[in-house]
Order: sequence, then structure tokens, then C-alpha cells
Amino acid sequence: MRDTMHRESLLEVANVHQVFREKDFETPVLKGVSFTLERGEMVALLGPSGSGKSTLLTILGTLLTPTSGTLRMLGRELQSLPEKALSEFRNRHIGFIFQFHHLLPDFTALENVMFPNAGRVGRETPAARERARMLLERVGLADRMNYRATRLSGGQKQRVAIARALMNEPELVLADEPTGNLDRENADQAFALMTEIQRETGTTFLLSTHDRELAERCERRIYMRGGVVVSNLRDTGSQAARVIDHTGAAYSRAGCSRPGDLTGRHRA
Ligand code: ADP
Ligand code: MG
Repeated sequence: MRDTMHRESLLEVANVHQVFREKDFETPVLKGVSFTLERGEMVALLGPSGSGKSTLLTILGTLLTPTSGTLRMLGRELQSLPEKALSEFRNRHIGFIFQFHHLLPDFTALENVMFPNAGRVGRETPAARERARMLLERVGLADRMNYRATRLSGGQKQRVAIARALMNEPELVLADEPTGNLDRENADQAFALMTEIQRETGTTFLLSTHDRELAERCERRIYMRGGVVVSNLRDTGSQAARVIDHTGAAYSRAGCSRPGDLTGRHRA
């Protein structure tokens, strides 16, 4: 049986506000966002366009410092880390997948996976190459490793982006509408891949999406509207059982076992 009591928290987001200031006007975008992500869970972030999902993901990825509020991840208060320590933390612990793959066009699939961030260029090692190969095999691109990014289809590019996000064995993968630019079949395939990887490795995924069908297959859904979280199913006691049942049903429909069967590195 799935035992949520034994899940550790990975990221605690507390009262995050973001106000964009330009000359003489201010745009409040996040108005006090709080929630916790636990290790190894797959969470969908939903909400209408403009509700602040991308801004929130950018803040969680430590690419933007919030106007106020705190992020605590792996026992560290991220807002108190100096820039260099923060970028090291980000490289080690957080992977990113974007709606538009953001691959380097002149590099091969293998090179794109090996260099998940510009800082790694030139630091190629045999072990890194081996891991990149393994990841590309895992995402079904064994025969495309040496293709330049421009020669890959949309679905293939997004699978390279998934592999790249996993290169440094992050505890957290943030994905901003990762299937938003794909057709149904490729979206399903990319999502299935992320789910399998989440279950195999215990990596936590937070992904924003407009795709209700995919969101229903996640273990939890956080809904935003106007810069606040309006619903966060599974954190409230009475809804918890329903949501877990939901997830179980979705997983058995998809022909795979429920997420409680995960045997990732974080859940010995
Ligand atoms: P979502 O991803 O949910 O569509 P976003 O986080 O992209 O929402 O945007 C939320 C709101 O923040 C929008 O109204 C957008 O115009 C505004 N916004 C985002 N980035 C900036 C910025 N750099 N400066 C000013 N306003 C911004
Ligand atoms: Mg967005």
C-alpha cells in the first residue's frame, strides 16, 4: 500500500510573491503561493494562461528570485545562497524541460544531452558520454544520437530534452508545458516516458499543462488562478483518498502499476 506518511518533503514553497516592476507600474503576478513537493511524486500544475505558472516554475528553478517568500529544498534555504552556490545547486539538483525544447541546433542529440547547461561545455568525460548514451537509449533514440537537433522531429526533440533534463540526476524536474507543442500521440509518448522515469528513479516532477487528460494521470494537481493556488488536491485529508483512488484508476487504465510501486533511489 502506498504510504504517504513516509514520503519526505523535497521542496517547501512558502508565501511566494512576485511583482514585476517596470518604470512606474507594477504587475503583481504571484500573490502568496505555498505548497510542498514530496520526493518522488508527479504533480501537475494547472491554471489558465496568465495565472503565473511559468513565473512560478522559473522561481522554483531558482532562475528568478521572488519578490518575497522562501524556498527550502534539500534542507537549504535557497534565497540565502550566494549566486555561485545557487547555480551549482541548480545544476546538481534541478532539471528543466520547456515547451520549446531549447536544444542547441548545431549540436547532436548526444551533445545536447551531455551539455545540459552552457557551463558544462568542454567538460566532456567518458562517463558523461556513457550516461548521455544510456539516457538517449532510455528515451528511444538509440538510432538518433548523432543526428543534429535540427534533423529531429518535434517529438524526438522533446525526448532529447527529457534526457537532457535528467543528465545530472536531479531530484526535481520542472517542466513548463512539456507536451504543449506536441500532437496527441507524441504528447502521450513524452508523458508516459516522464512517468516511467519518475517511477524508476524517484525523481520528483512538477509539470505545467493545459492537458486535463495528462493531469489526471498525475498523482496530484495544483490549480492556480490569478497568482494564487486555488486547489491542491491530496493535501486535504478527505480528498486524499479520492485523489489516490483516482490516480490508481488512471494508472491501471494505462496498463501500468500505481505510483506506489516505485522503487527509486529515494525510497529504500
Ligand atoms: P502562465 O504561465 O500561467 O501563462 P505567466 O507566469 O507566464 O503565466 O504570466 C503571468 C502574468 O505575469 C502574465 O500576466 C504576464 O503578462 C505577467 N508577466 C510574466 N513575466 C513578466 C515580466 N517579466 N514582466 C511583467 N509581467 C510579466
Ligand atoms: Mg506559461
